[in-house]
Amino acid sequence: MLEKMDDRFDPEAVIEEFESLSRDAGRVQRETLQKILDENGETEYLQGWGLNGRTDPDSFNDCVPIVSHSDLEPYIQRIADGNSPCCLTGKPITTISLRWSLHKLSGTTQGKPKFVPFNDELMESTMQIYKTSFAYRNREYPIGNGKALQFIYSSKQFKTKGGLAAGTATTNVYRNAQFKKTMRAMQTPCCSPDEVIFGPDFHQSLYCHLLCGLIFRDEVQVVSSTFAHSIVHAFRTFEQIWEELVTDIREGTLSSCITVPPIRAAMAKLLEPDPELADTVYSKISGLSNWYGLIQELFPSTKYIYGIMTGSMEPYLKKLRHYAGELPLLSADYGSSEGWIGANVNPKLTPEVATFAVLPNIGYFEFIPLREDLNRQGQEAKPVGLTDVKTGEEYEILVTNFAGLYRYRLGDVVKVKGFHNSTPELQFICRRNLLLTINIDKNTEKDLQLAVEAAAQLLAGEKLEVVDFTSRVDLSMDPGHYVVFWEISGDPQDELLQECCNCLDRSFVDAGYLSSRKVRAIGALELRILRKGTFHKILDHYVGLGAAVSQFKTPRCVGPANNTVLQILSVNASRSYFSTAY
Ligand code: AMP
Repeated sequence: MLEKMDDRFDPEAVIEEFESLSRDAGRVQRETLQKILDENGETEYLQGWGLNGRTDPDSFNDCVPIVSHSDLEPYIQRIADGNSPCCLTGKPITTISLRWSLHKLSGTTQGKPKFVPFNDELMESTMQIYKTSFAYRNREYPIGNGKALQFIYSSKQFKTKGGLAAGTATTNVYRNAQFKKTMRAMQTPCCSPDEVIFGPDFHQSLYCHLLCGLIFRDEVQVVSSTFAHSIVHAFRTFEQIWEELVTDIREGTLSSCITVPPIRAAMAKLLEPDPELADTVYSKISGLSNWYGLIQELFPSTKYIYGIMTGSMEPYLKKLRHYAGELPLLSADYGSSEGWIGANVNPKLTPEVATFAVLPNIGYFEFIPLREDLNRQGQEAKPVGLTDVKTGEEYEILVTNFAGLYRYRLGDVVKVKGFHNSTPELQFICRRNLLLTINIDKNTEKDLQLAVEAAAQLLAGEKLEVVDFTSRVDLSMDPGHYVVFWEISGDPQDELLQECCNCLDRSFVDAGYLSSRKVRAIGALELRILRKGTFHKILDHYVGLGAAVSQFKTPRCVGPANNTVLQILSVNASRSYFSTAY
């Protein structure tokens, strides 16, 4: 009973708290910085910068350098080795997050995770973000008591040399008792048992997530995942395995493909022969045309679909909408393994225009203006504070938080769309680093995405789609050229793919690329078509190394050192086209 009371929270109180924090974002930021520096000022790291006890933004700005992950790596390594648990934070760091975000890795580090500190404060701000966006979401789309079909997966966990628990950030969150409590409080406990979420084989976990969803089909209120890719992946898989799922339900037995004993034991408790449910699912699926509205039909009480749908998840929106039918897509919050930044407090905005209101008490945030005229001759403009950003401008974001990151470059570019009271609402634009560059050309992940979208339009007439894509720069011939890899849902004619290839080439409109192409300082763009299932193989490869499906983002550009993925791409390429656009 007591626990039940504890679990509950009042969404209106959460909203009121956020309204009050955001009304006074400037003051809250100064206080938050002061608190972070008070708690951690004695650490080896901060002592090194001569703050001498000062905790104001100006001194902080003057004394402490802007860093990226590699600058902090030696400190985090010592924490992981158990040598100096307090070199970054006053309280010892006891857990490490493994960051497998492939789009953040570069050069020779590809294939190895990076270490990021994780602590209770980070867990707390995670729950604060979850509750805040839930409160606003629930106002617009109230849900009753029910369950969530969550496609969440834990990665392998291990101990560092110094004995610290290490797993991906989402794994550290799912394993924390607070997580379950918060999910219960939001009336959306996961319909799968823990054995499924924490199972050692994600194919088996996915199978059982789907099966649990069907067993509880009338109770499912929300279908969600951390990143939207996992939802699309789940229902693409459903298309392949649904008959087996229906058989399991009809007979009350579990497919022999599921071999992990604890998963089998947990699922046995949920399964019993249910021919009626099997018939219902069968007839719902038979009534679909090309799987349109699948989620809505399978889970009739679902109010919305929820997950991160912005940034590198945008290419999956079309497919997600197709599966969703009429159900709204609600984009989840903005953060990273290093810490959270903003909550989606305008749930009615479509994912394409979703914004994130910064929570001013979970960290101290600075913004480097990215206007060209401010960044002349390779010099960077000075960062400005949270309440000094301007609507319409783009910035690179710096984070200082309770997990021992100080003026830390997250590597993300955001645009200020407006303000919620006095805290900015940010739109995620892209990763700051360039994906494709040979000489003076500059193309980001977003540029690649737009080019692929434009070219993929040409397939729409044939009812075909690009399942997934990636790219690389090929310097093996002179001049170098871009290679774009596509996995397509069907088999179009050569002429059509040649057109797509030309369209891709023309869609990179960056001035550097255009002029280099014209003078042949960059060679003709190459489109390579991949066999079906290639991107599943890439996912499997990273999961095998210890990455988490829950945090998976397809690498949009494969670096020269990433031999295994290059190998997968080259073995699975079936056709290739060179642009004749220039
Ligand atoms: P990870 O550390 O694996 O969780 O990856 C964090 C990165 O994912 C961030 O730095 C962003 O680049 C991206 N990301 C996280 N949340 C969002 C979001 N809501 N919209 C777009 N990109 C996001």
